[in-house]
Amino acid sequence: MINKDMLSLGQNRSAIRELFEQGKVLKEKYGSENVFDFSIGNPTAPCPSIINEKIKSLANNAGLSIHGYTSASGDKNVREEIATYLNKTYDASVSGYLIYLTVGAAAGLSISLKAVTSGNSDDEVIVFAPFFPEYSVFIKNANAKVVTVNPDYETFYPDFDDFRNKITKNTSAVIINSPNNPTGVFYKKEILTKLCDILSQKEKEFNHPIYLISDEPYREILFIDEKYTFITNLYDNSIVVYSFSKTASVPGERIGYLIVNTNCKNASEVYAAICGAGRSLGYVCATSLFQFLIPHCLGVTSDINIYKNNAYFLYEELTKIGYEVVKPDGALYVFIKAPIDDDNEFSKKALEYNLLLVPSESFGVRGFVRAVNCLSEEQTKRALPKFTELYNYYK
Ligand code: PLP
Repeated sequence: MINKDMLSLGQNRSAIRELFEQGKVLKEKYGSENVFDFSIGNPTAPCPSIINEKIKSLANNAGLSIHGYTSASGDKNVREEIATYLNKTYDASVSGYLIYLTVGAAAGLSISLKAVTSGNSDDEVIVFAPFFPEYSVFIKNANAKVVTVNPDYETFYPDFDDFRNKITKNTSAVIINSPNNPTGVFYKKEILTKLCDILSQKEKEFNHPIYLISDEPYREILFIDEKYTFITNLYDNSIVVYSFSKTASVPGERIGYLIVNTNCKNASEVYAAICGAGRSLGYVCATSLFQFLIPHCLGVTSDINIYKNNAYFLYEELTKIGYEVVKPDGALYVFIKAPIDDDNEFSKKALEYNLLLVPSESFGVRGFVRAVNCLSEEQTKRALPKFTELYNYYK
């Protein structure tokens, strides 16, 4: 017998992947230069040259250990180097002993959620709409319920009244993601402080930890002059999930890490549960070659200006056409209000113009589409007449 839930997940691709696959068909038919695939956040800024150089030199000089198993949680020295870098850069006080190397942020999230939920189906995990659709998959896999908090549609920060109301005695964890996929919005320190204050009050009221999981694959893809507030400095029961996928243009290499805050209540037990969850999910010993690459790419990013130029270009030019666009502060996305209520219908219509825009329903809100800002600058510019034609269709 096969698992029906898994069958359904496997048979029904995410809206993003579905469009990505349709894009491939369209490209074969019309030529890739004539299809504007704004569907998937595949970074296009070249990977920093130091990464390719270090891959070669590790493969040539490091001996057999480079291909061997490391500790399940990752190489100890690499974990210490990550901690030293973060403590220096973000004035944090994290410890290598509480870091777990992961196969990208997806594994980091799955492990964290499995570790901090009881496994009994009453547990609730809060996400802020609009959110990365795979959160629902990972939360359900931990046998917990997804609870969605509405956004404030003016700012795309959380609606804090709704947040307060949605926290219950069953709330185990809350996920935040800044800069955000799909809106590009960055949570400034005062927003995070407000969010953490609410959580601390609720922890007292319900007398148990509520874990704050900060999903940070876009941490360095920031276009505004703001300092990144490291969540462990603001909230004790926190877990940071990071990935090199987007910042260093290596999404296919599947490497990242998670950190349990040193100040977390019973931190060593939480970390042991992380190790247990990693073991139970089969996420042990992340790819060795890329583990040993980490010390060479801490703080090294691809050319973020490519994304910034595209993001601001799309924001300004689409606004001129008449679209309402959320001003992006970072990440790889621009969030656009559809000129009609039905985002699925709008996305379908856009396909007729060879424009691939992801409808917002799977992000937990209606009436928007998401476009990536990581196509080439040339391709992004050439898409503009198509956006104009599409807009004019609804005039
Ligand atoms: N979290 C967010 C918000 C994302 O956008 C993504 C990928 O697009 C992930 C997690 C997964 O990242 P990774 O490729 O490192 O698994």
